[in-house]
Amino acid sequence: MRKLLWRYIGTLLFIALFSLGATVLYAINKVLEDDLYTRVERLHEHVLDRIQVFDSLLRVEELELDSKLQSALPEAYKELKALPGGLPGASSETLKALTDKYGLDEFYVIDKNTVIVATTFKPDQGFELGTISSELRSFLLGLINSGTIKVDRINVSAKTGIWNKYAYYGPEQEEHLLEASVQIREHLVRTRSEEFDHFLFEQYFADLAHNRALIQQVRIFLMNDLNIFSFAGEKPKIQPEEITLLNQAGQFRKVHDGIINIFSKVDLKNSRMAGAESLVVNTEIDMSAIKQLNSRIFIIVLVLTVLFLLAAYTTLTGLLEKNVIRRIHLINEGLERVADGDYSTEMVVDGIDELIDIAKHTNSMRIRIGDRESQLDEARNTLEIRVKERTSELQQEIETRKEAEEKLARLATTDSLTGLMNRRAFDDLAKREYVRAKRNSLSLCLLVLDLDKFKHVNDTYGHDAGDKVLVCIAQSLSGQARKSDLIARFGGEEFIMILPDTPLEGGFEFANRIREIVASKEIDIGNQIISVTVSIGITEWDVNKDKLEDAFKKADTYLYQAKEQGRNRVVSGDKRQSS
Ligand code: GH3
Ligand code: MG
Ligand code: MG
Repeated sequence: MRKLLWRYIGTLLFIALFSLGATVLYAINKVLEDDLYTRVERLHEHVLDRIQVFDSLLRVEELELDSKLQSALPEAYKELKALPGGLPGASSETLKALTDKYGLDEFYVIDKNTVIVATTFKPDQGFELGTISSELRSFLLGLINSGTIKVDRINVSAKTGIWNKYAYYGPEQEEHLLEASVQIREHLVRTRSEEFDHFLFEQYFADLAHNRALIQQVRIFLMNDLNIFSFAGEKPKIQPEEITLLNQAGQFRKVHDGIINIFSKVDLKNSRMAGAESLVVNTEIDMSAIKQLNSRIFIIVLVLTVLFLLAAYTTLTGLLEKNVIRRIHLINEGLERVADGDYSTEMVVDGIDELIDIAKHTNSMRIRIGDRESQLDEARNTLEIRVKERTSELQQEIETRKEAEEKLARLATTDSLTGLMNRRAFDDLAKREYVRAKRNSLSLCLLVLDLDKFKHVNDTYGHDAGDKVLVCIAQSLSGQARKSDLIARFGGEEFIMILPDTPLEGGFEFANRIREIVASKEIDIGNQIISVTVSIGITEWDVNKDKLEDAFKKADTYLYQAKEQGRNRVVSGDKRQSS
């Protein structure tokens, strides 16, 4: 159960950690990413706001510069004209000295016949501000290639940077013009201070970047399809061919070395900087900061998840231990008791519903099994008694039957009056003696005995007296015979004997002794003493030649001869032996 729980909790822990971590990280990344773009958009709004401030500042600065140029240029013109060579003879040193004197960047003396193609208004009528456009560039190149118009300078395009200001001066009657070029940014530095310039061009954007987490740097630059010019910050890391992309998409991102650069175009239509087509904001984000943040969040999520799951596990196992495992142990112990045959102890019923049900059912099962067991015990006891009784009855029956069988067997083999073997038993034993004698080449004598005039005994003294005589004679025969001799009542007052291992001479002697003993026997028949005689026929049984029947016939023949010869005698086949 605990192992299962561990496995379950382990899997849960893994899945929960994995999914929770992944979800949280995904969510955080998504939020961060969305947040980044929101921040970039808000940054653009701030940049536009700032540009408007610049615009108004520049307007003031331009007006000041314009009035300065408007007073400076006629003065400079006069100075140059007063030179010995006049305006055309102005040396570069003179021009340099004049630019320094009037706080300008460049002075040029231009022939009035020269076409100044980069201006869109008359040279002596005002000032121009702007960068070169693609159309102007094509136009200039077309003029140069056609050769129809002499172009001696295209300084407008070359000079345009951040707020280059051009001023031209030349009275109508004069054939020369004076051109002055001023860079507004440098002009500002000169007239105000470096701090002012820094404040205008750098600090605000640095602050913008600084105040927004994850944004490392903000760079602003002016852009046309020919070139890019830094406005604030370093020169942006963008390739000329990417300018086209930016024009089309309005925004694109570059990822390099874990740094994301988001370039966004800001429309400048109504700005003082309208000469430039657009302003581009380059927002640089260091991904390592995001990664660092991610890993920190991941560790926090991981730790919180582990703590939560540990707490959940402890609570769960505690609850499980209290409400399930301990109850299961109790039920288990109860079942063990039932298994050991103890049906008396009641099982505790509490815990969760299912276990209460199990305990209740087990209890009723315990009671039922207990009842059944005692019923069974009773039934078993009764049965045992019945079996014992029946067994002794059967034993008695068996003994009775055995006795009866023995009696039957005895009756089957014994003559009931004299207790001698009957004829059948004699036949069986005689066969055995026959086999033994044949195997061992032994002599056998067969005697047939018949009481003389026994009818007379019966007739004279009664049948019972005759029986007594028969019993008495049988006892005498048995008394004389050896253990190995076979002796049987053959029917009526006839007996038969086999004398094993006995030659005819010995047998004859034995027969004669029997005859004498019978004749001399005084038999008490109750009221008087009588005696009887016996006639005996004896033969040596030639087992190699004769069967029992044959030997019997011979002995019977000799018995008959004994009767013939006057009874109370023994006759054998041997003529010499007859008495
Ligand atoms: P013999 O000398 O020629 O043998 O004359 P016998 O009278 O003995 O011969 P017989 O065969 O004529 O008679 C035999 C008698 O033996 C007839 C019968 O009554 C008697 N007897 C046969 N069996 C029994 C018996 O079991 N008990 C008694 N008491 N008499 C028997
Ligand atoms: Mg007879
Ligand atoms: Mg007889």
